[in-house]
Amino acid sequence: PGGAADPFVTTWVSSFVERVRSSIDELTDLDRRAGDGDFGVNMQIGLADFAVDENASPAAVFEILARGFLGNAGGTSGALFGAFFHRVSVALDGAGASTASVAAGVADGLAAITDLGGAQPGDKTMVDALDPAARALRDAGSVELSAALAEAAEAATRGAESTTDTVAQRGRASYIGDAARGVIDPGALVVSWFFAAA
Ligand code: ADP
Ligand code: MG
Ligand code: MG
Repeated sequence: PGGAADPFVTTWVSSFVERVRSSIDELTDLDRRAGDGDFGVNMQIGLADFAVDENASPAAVFEILARGFLGNAGGTSGALFGAFFHRVSVALDGAGASTASVAAGVADGLAAITDLGGAQPGDKTMVDALDPAARALRDAGSVELSAALAEAAEAATRGAESTTDTVAQRGRASYIGDAARGVIDPGALVVSWFFAAA
């Protein structure tokens, strides 16, 4: 994926990667309480090869992210985040990063996740943060990208927080039913960090 570099996107994605890298233990702990405990390590491995390239186009930055998750990470989250970031990359390829192209990429990425995993909002997964973020971006219309992403971050954070009170219907957290109540879904938390990093 070619095109001109966009410092806003490079900084956004780098900040997101740093946020996750500095939170591996927290993510491990959440998945230990509401899953099988490998989510932190899956994130760590998925991001291990990520390096900032100031000359990379927005599409290339997202494709590097996608490759790490698809090629290296294990677990459900590796496949789902890989598919998500790949769709964002495709939407930005040629178009660059605008409110419209990011909204389209996030909507496509969400569709890929629900096609693969079958989760609906309310199932206590990353979809609970992504679905409201996708709506916020769609509703943002023609506002500037950073403002649209701020709206998306607020929506994703509220969505992630809502997973604390729900019982999982998908993924390993669903195997333990009520015991996962009170634990925020780590995948949804990472999605909220993704938007907040912008
Ligand atoms: P695994 O269950 O394979 O150990 P991970 O620990 O890597 O998966 O990832 C767990 C995260 O993946 C959860 O926090 C949740 O957000 C997300 N997840 C699990 N199943 C699904 C699904 N079917 N659809 C969407 N997201 C899911
Ligand atoms: Mg797990
Ligand atoms: Mg696992």
